[in-house]
Amino acid sequence: MGALIDMLNCRKNSYRVVLSLDQDLSLLDRLAMRLHLSICKPCKRFSKQMATLDLIQQRYCQGEWAGQEQHLRLSEKARQRILSRLQEKPFDD
Ligand SMILES: [Zn+2]
Repeated sequence: MGALIDMLNCRKNSYRVVLSLDQDLSLLDRLAMRLHLSICKPCKRFSKQMATLDLIQQRYCQGEWAGQEQHLRLSEKARQRILSRLQEKPFDD
């Protein structure tokens, strides 16, 4: 039962998603992540966003976008929106 509850936990799944970008997960963690992503739309979206960010970061580090840094910056409006949301709801743990 504990493994099933763990599989349903979005926070733990997010951790697995981020971890999977840098290292191979155990078979159990891989299965739990895939099962979770098959039933949880927000986590599936988060997983795709993380994969996209990872790809952007890899390309940036490879110098593919040299001279195009202005396209990689957030607008001032987006920056302020994120800042105000972070100040509204700090993480509790
Ligand atoms: Zn989830």
